[in-house]
Amino acid sequence: MNDNRVRELIIVGGGPAGYTAALYSARANLEPLVIEGFQWGGQLMITSDVENYPGFAEGIMGPQLMADFRRQAERFGAEFIADDVTRVDFSEQPFRVWVGDDEYRAQSVIVATGATARQLGLESERALHGRGVTYCAVCDAAFYRDKEVVVVGGGDSAMEEAIFLTKFASKVTVLHRRSEFRASPIMFDRARANEKIEFLTPVVVEEALGAEEGKLTGVQVRNVETDEVSVVPAEGLFVAIGHDPSTKLFVDHLDHDDEGYLINQPGSTATNIEGVFAAGDVVDHVYRQAVTAAGMGCMAALDAERWLAAREGHPESALSAPRA
Ligand code: NAP
Repeated sequence: MNDNRVRELIIVGGGPAGYTAALYSARANLEPLVIEGFQWGGQLMITSDVENYPGFAEGIMGPQLMADFRRQAERFGAEFIADDVTRVDFSEQPFRVWVGDDEYRAQSVIVATGATARQLGLESERALHGRGVTYCAVCDAAFYRDKEVVVVGGGDSAMEEAIFLTKFASKVTVLHRRSEFRASPIMFDRARANEKIEFLTPVVVEEALGAEEGKLTGVQVRNVETDEVSVVPAEGLFVAIGHDPSTKLFVDHLDHDDEGYLINQPGSTATNIEGVFAAGDVVDHVYRQAVTAAGMGCMAALDAERWLAAREGHPESALSAPRA
């Protein structure tokens, strides 16, 4: 199917950034098409209680929050395709985006495809996801007050998460596969100085235990030098082994760093291609929060709207109108 219409805006990605961009651009009459991905909703779809999204004093379930984001954008006319983009061509105007054989064209594109936390790849890890296994200490640490937890990883994220967790947990054991740490010395020293943090190296996690009970009870680890197997009791397993941005489709077109994160122009959501903008975790490996992604989605919609208006000779754009 070829959609001959040249739209003003296509948004690729259906997480907090994409849906917020959709809301703002729909309210600015850009009639955005959101190609939100087969697994729409992003990382919050695999989170249970979200207690740190402002405005929800009692907290809200991640999937509910994302469904509400989506519905809010839909109310103002955003269109959605719950499928994955398979190819893009940003080499000339209008930009072209494909979903399989279906082609869509637009004058501007917002890339908001997010990132995914790396997983250990264990069946038991999947089974206990949300039942003790988690990928975000900022999101979930408060559920582990006075409990023993483990953190896997040897980078800055693992140190940061371990330190943060000590505000709640009674004990935090950092499990790392090597005895050398990738973390910056300052973060590592800070973690080492914390009395609640212990280190166990060089170990790999072989199993998340507790699938039968329906919640994590501990982890089975193997020392990679001695082959000795042991169990570390824990109610929380925080996997902090890095994130991968979902940018495979874009790295041939858009500036990116060594890890694949897109690089925007300073102080803007504009990429190196005029008319293409990027927002959310796809450019952000520092904050990675739903609220920061949503904020960037808003910025991208405003940047796209301003760019489209200037191009059409209306530099004043709807942005000059009063807004919330
Ligand atoms: P990272 O630096 O890539 O570290 C990932 C860690 O996970 C490494 O120690 C790695 O082990 C381990 N790992 C990877 N795959 C594994 C697997 N399958 N099983 C077990 N362990 C595995 O990632 P990050 O810590 O998320 O940091 C990403 C970037 O953000 C870095 O540039 C970091 O400096 C930055 N960051 C900065 C701050 C801060 O300054 N406050 C906070 C967080 C992140 P090996 O070492 O053996 O490879």
